[in-house]
Amino acid sequence: MAETPQFLWVEGKLVAWNDATIHLTKLGLAGVSSVFEGIRAYTNPETHKLYIFRLDEHLERFAQSIRLMRMKQHFSNAQLRDGLLEVLRVNNCTEDVYIRPFAFIEANMFGVAPDADARIVISTKPMPSRLQSGKVSHMCVSSWSRITDNVMPPRVKASSNYLNSRLASEEARRNGYDGALILNPNGKVAEAQGACVMIVRDGKIVTPSVTSGILESITRATLIQLCREVLNIEVVEREMDRTELYIANEAFLCATGAEITPIASIDRFTFGDGNIGPITRQLINLYHDLLRGIDSHYNEWRTQV
Ligand code: PMP
Repeated sequence: MAETPQFLWVEGKLVAWNDATIHLTKLGLAGVSSVFEGIRAYTNPETHKLYIFRLDEHLERFAQSIRLMRMKQHFSNAQLRDGLLEVLRVNNCTEDVYIRPFAFIEANMFGVAPDADARIVISTKPMPSRLQSGKVSHMCVSSWSRITDNVMPPRVKASSNYLNSRLASEEARRNGYDGALILNPNGKVAEAQGACVMIVRDGKIVTPSVTSGILESITRATLIQLCREVLNIEVVEREMDRTELYIANEAFLCATGAEITPIASIDRFTFGDGNIGPITRQLINLYHDLLRGIDSHYNEWRTQV
């Protein structure tokens, strides 16, 4: 699959990649006020069918981001769903792919125009899974604080929020880590730069609550449901202290992009022998099979392209 798709979906029309342009003078401003979604589709290794994972939940969160930013939305979730399927088909997407719906305001003064029209684009790019690659991450706790609901709400999947993420991840990498966990201004654990965090303590999973300053992650919700309904593992959503990270038995990141990324160490406190822990491994295998429809449970989570 080519790195760049042949077509993008732009406000109801398929537009060739080269024609989907915006004037340079609009670029920064459009970015400041934009919101987006990150969605993935995975192929089944036997049938080669492509399944979008939790499409409706992503479109619902996209609508919420647009609403919270007070953009005027001219497309229903059903229309966006059709557009998204159309762009996957016309681009002949047959392998694991990342899909990005993107809404921006074409405004002059940093997007402050009241009730400005949301301009919507959907693009695709190949993204192979790393879920079963065995890769682990070494994380740190960032010296930066997470943005907060009354400043720049992390609940909105806004491009500008990633300035906070970028500061944290850039610092982490400069200091030899793979990424950062970010504390909220109360000193409690919020999330990583582009993923939520879960730890295992005494056989239970603990994860920061949705009011800790996090994006309401669809992967997080999926894993909580799977722990409770399939694996019989208790999940506690609550405030989390920094030091709980250090004494955990296992820890992992979860996000559409990061999938389930096992954490081997945090601030050089290593979990166990530094390999993937048993509960993390169990979740990875279950999640993998559900994403690809190898396990046919939770059929409502998969949309066949
Ligand atoms: N937090 C942040 C800051 C993110 O960017 C992401 C990735 N979208 C997540 C959490 C995970 O959200 P989801 O599981 O819905 O992809």
